[in-house]
Amino acid sequence: VAGLLSGKRALVMGVANDHSIAWGVAKALSQAGAEIAFTYQGDALGRRVRPLAETLGSDIVIPCDVEDIASVDATFAQLKERWGGLDILVHCIGFSNKNELKGRYADTSRENFSRTMVISAFSFTELAKRAAEMMGPGGSMVTLTYGGATRVMPNYNVMGVAKAALEASVRYLAADYGPQGIRVNAISAGPVRTLAGAGIADARLMYDFQRRHSPLRRPVTIEEVGGAALYLLSDLSSGVTGEIHFVDSGYNIISMPSPEGLKR
Ligand code: NAD
Repeated sequence: VAGLLSGKRALVMGVANDHSIAWGVAKALSQAGAEIAFTYQGDALGRRVRPLAETLGSDIVIPCDVEDIASVDATFAQLKERWGGLDILVHCIGFSNKNELKGRYADTSRENFSRTMVISAFSFTELAKRAAEMMGPGGSMVTLTYGGATRVMPNYNVMGVAKAALEASVRYLAADYGPQGIRVNAISAGPVRTLAGAGIADARLMYDFQRRHSPLRRPVTIEEVGGAALYLLSDLSSGVTGEIHFVDSGYNIISMPSPEGLKR
């Protein structure tokens, strides 16, 4: 893959630490020769992200809270000043109140529903719009989703509804930007142990269940998600847009787990 992305400029949003899916993607893009700019949410995460960025030779590390549109605009103003243009956007951002990532979806509050939607779904639309303004033909964007968007996962609740909106946004944005030669896709990752993942009640049960019952019988790594992102963000996938690509050890194809898996 060396040189696949040489000369390309990528904005990677959502690194919290070296377990973050965004970090797996950043490493893959960097190995392929891309220059990377990072955003982080809040000073505490900034202190973690800055040294990680340095290991990939990046000194563009910008604070950005997607709940605050002024912060989003400031990020793109800074990026424009530094780079002028942009080739790649990686959106690995999600949030919902932990108290509602358990129990029944039916009990979701209006306040948390709106907040989850804005941060986890609508932010991608707002970021895509600003990124597209800086992109030429060949630009590519990827966001991260989860199978709970289309099938019920215990405790995933309002995040599942937000991911459904995010996946629909991917299709609409792909249609909007396709004529400009800009592609928009999503990766639907299997469970990965991250900060965000730990907010879901019984996350470990979900992780173990998918590990035991997926065709590959193992969880995916952030490096594997990075590999798929590299494909979607490079010209290797130049004919692909509006796609939800599963990187989940094949879990999504299973209806009933195998009897052998159930006995283990
Ligand atoms: P993570 O905790 O490492 O990353 C989540 C990121 O979202 C953090 O960097 C956090 O700062 C950022 N974020 C939250 N609210 C924000 C805000 N208001 N403004 C800016 N940034 C904000 O966890 P992760 O699992 O790597 O999550 C990345 C993406 O992958 C999320 O969209 C998540 O839903 C998705 N995903 C995760 C899994 C999993 O099992 N971990 C599976 C499928 C999809």
